[in-house]
Amino acid sequence: MGVASDANWGDRAVCKSSDPDELFVEGAAQNRAKAVCVGCSVRTECLAFALDHRIEHGIWGGMTERERRALLRRRPMVTSWWRLLETARVEHEQRLHAGAPASDGNRILPAQSLASR
Ligand code: SF4
Repeated sequence: MGVASDANWGDRAVCKSSDPDELFVEGAAQNRAKAVCVGCSVRTECLAFALDHRIEHGIWGGMTERERRALLRRRPMVTSWWRLLETARVEHEQRLHAGAPASDGNRILPAQSLASR
């Protein structure tokens, strides 16, 4: 299921049943909070939502507000993160199906690869 077609991604959020305050922490606690997102199946959707809505606080899609601000500054021409991340996901899955290795030999989700650019 693609990003653009999945309006109910929040239903599958790993953090859905946890205390929301755990994702709105400061300093070193943010690294612990980000760990919650590592195995979340809707990480890309979550990040796209936060970027497109310019959400300024909290951990979204495994990124802190500072990391998201930096990403927005690096890519000022992006008008739809939702569309960009969906395209990145499709291309990533096509490469995997074609047998091409991921850039570092591990499976990298689009949200993770964008964050490192
Ligand atoms: S990526 Fe993180 S913040 Fe977003 S829904 Fe998943 S667990 Fe929650």
